Amino acid sequence: MVKHVRKIIQAGWGILTNAYVRGFIPGGPMLYQGPLKHFCVPGMNCYSCPGALGACPVGSLQAVLNERHRRFPFYVLGWMIFVGAAVGRFICGWLCLFGLLQELLYKIPVRKVRVADKVDRPLRYLKYIVLAVLVVGLPLLYRTRYGAGDPSFCKYVCPVGTLEGGVPHVLLNGTLRPALGWLFRWKMLLLVLCIAASVVIYRPFCRYICPLGAFYALFQRFSLVRIRVDSDACINCGACHRVCGMQVDPHVMPDSAECIRCGECMKACPVNALSFTAGGKGFCSRSTGSNIGSNTGNKKHLRRLDVFS
Ligand code: SF4
Ligand code: SF4
Repeated sequence: MVKHVRKIIQAGWGILTNAYVRGFIPGGPMLYQGPLKHFCVPGMNCYSCPGALGACPVGSLQAVLNERHRRFPFYVLGWMIFVGAAVGRFICGWLCLFGLLQELLYKIPVRKVRVADKVDRPLRYLKYIVLAVLVVGLPLLYRTRYGAGDPSFCKYVCPVGTLEGGVPHVLLNGTLRPALGWLFRWKMLLLVLCIAASVVIYRPFCRYICPLGAFYALFQRFSLVRIRVDSDACINCGACHRVCGMQVDPHVMPDSAECIRCGECMKACPVNALSFTAGGKGFCSRSTGSNIGSNTGNKKHLRRLDVFS
């Protein structure tokens, strides 16, 4: 049970924030429009999902920047900065339903691909380009002849929106189907590619495309919640690096922009050298349940074992 606590939190949060059951009744009210919809959730969650109780920060940011009379997105940007400064990409690891979906797809037992570093590292920058161009640049600068902007990321790319919004609406509302055109087919293609890639690569959307992950990544080095390495305890075994699906080496770079703070490395560490900290104070680390190395003495002990093995 405890082993699956993160999955339970991810799923529970996804259900809680998409709990407008009436939205899923064919022919019923299509979207929740109550007061909660004025607030952003911290992770990616499509506003147009029939069950969505809150708004997606990425969609909301584009919606404000899109407006005919440009306004500064005080609330949305302030919220995103607050979340990023508090927990960084912890949201990606613990409170993102689309992240959970990718993780479950990755459990399908087929041969996995560990992306070569020389491909992985440059591709990581793609999500910052998506954020700068499709979420901020085009919605802010481009105007159609009617004077409004284009929510470019939501409209042309977002597989979260296609899965949580587009597909359920098409399934629940038969009158929409004849009107589907190239844009829906394009977005379905992107969604299928994303799902297929997730079966062999760990969370490819989060690693290379997600603009919200890119935004929160900017705060990883400064956020309140971070990962700390006890360098006295660490025996440089590399287990944390091997287990990390995001291909981070936390004992070298605990503040990596790629770390989603899932805590899997902490479970793998044989000497309990990794822990979460808030404001510099440790608040969560894996308990080894044995006497094996959580201090310098044990580190020496393990090294001795290593020498004699
Ligand atoms: S470094 Fe650890 S916490 Fe960060 S993504 Fe990798 S396994 Fe998860
Ligand atoms: S798993 Fe623990 S002991 Fe091994 S390298 Fe990582 S932090 Fe150090």
